[in-house]
Amino acid sequence: MARDWTVVRCSGGDYYETVWERWVSFKAVRLGRRRFQRCPIHGRWEMVQRVPEVDLTPQIRQSAAGHRDSGRP
Ligand SMILES: [Zn+2]
Repeated sequence: MARDWTVVRCSGGDYYETVWERWVSFKAVRLGRRRFQRCPIHGRWEMVQRVPEVDLTPQIRQSAAGHRDSGRP
């Protein structure tokens, strides 16, 4: 199954990559572009928001790639 990696920004202000697909809905409460899930950087449950493609700078991409979520519950 292809993974749909998406860059998100957590409520702590950091960026990371996570899988944004229907099948992960069981581990996150979906609220449109936002959802509530465990942050791999801060180790706590936080609101995360998808970062639009147009807002993705090389710095954000690099930062996010260094904090990729496991993609598994
Ligand atoms: Zn965080």
